[in-house]
Amino acid sequence: MNTETIGFIGAGNMAEAIIKGIDGSGLVPAANIGVCDISSQRLEHFAALGHQTFSDAGDCAKFAQYLFLSVKPQQIDDVLDALSSQIHDDMVVVSIAAGITAPYIRQRLGRPQLQVVPVMPNTPLLIGEGAVAVGRGPQTAPQALQFVGDIFAASGKVWYIDEDKLNEIIPANGSSPAFIYFYTKLFCDCLHQQYGIDREMAKEMFCQTLIGSAKMMLAPGADIDDLIAKVCSKGGTTIAGIDGFVEKGMPQAVEHGIKACVDRAYELG
Ligand code: NAD
Repeated sequence: MNTETIGFIGAGNMAEAIIKGIDGSGLVPAANIGVCDISSQRLEHFAALGHQTFSDAGDCAKFAQYLFLSVKPQQIDDVLDALSSQIHDDMVVVSIAAGITAPYIRQRLGRPQLQVVPVMPNTPLLIGEGAVAVGRGPQTAPQALQFVGDIFAASGKVWYIDEDKLNEIIPANGSSPAFIYFYTKLFCDCLHQQYGIDREMAKEMFCQTLIGSAKMMLAPGADIDDLIAKVCSKGGTTIAGIDGFVEKGMPQAVEHGIKACVDRAYELG
């Protein structure tokens, strides 16, 4: 087990998923994890799991070598202002708040040399199937970046990407679970309402197809265009469906939704 201490300011859904992964992997002992939240119920929940709890963000910062900012983006300024006197350059700040950049955090804390690792996770972390982008920046030591990656590897797969691309990755991981749920719902609603198919069965069949199709796309050497072509026999049902999607502007709708998602991340930052 490692000896690092890890603190979380904001102990909501995402923090819980990350902590569950650490607890399951044994990366650090439970007592090396500290949480701070404005909700006493949340603190009681984590105390019962053997973690340290703090009602004061500054005390959590004093405890932690790796300090996670896991509040909502709209709450980040208050948190940074409350923390600024307790932050020192030997610690690493990890932010999972959408749109909040490392330069912004350094500037708001008045710490130009601070190691800040921005991370974009997603909710499948809750079941150990996260897809996590860890932001690589010039100020972060390789071992610190690796340790942050190890934390997330306990509950998902990790990619290291340049920190200035984190907003652009959100449609691929942070927001994409909801995009996939939305797409699934559109299919199930249509099949139920227009064709009388049982909604639950349609959902199960569609989800099983998502799992199988994802595995086929991830197989070594798989090519998405080839996979599409293999299902689309000439004059068949699948190509008729794809033509129908294109005719109604699905490619443009996807581009428009992705742009709205990325633009919003920049607005939040
Ligand atoms: P959440 O609302 O479940 O958790 C936030 C927690 O912060 C709450 O428990 C709240 O009580 C606490 N809090 C609020 N103000 C506080 C303060 N001043 N001090 C201490 N605690 C405070 O939110 P979440 O879904 O866990 O999201 C957390 C972050 O993760 C967000 O910044 C979000 O952008 C990011 N994120 C979320 C997702 C997602 O799908 N939920 C995906 C990627 C990134």
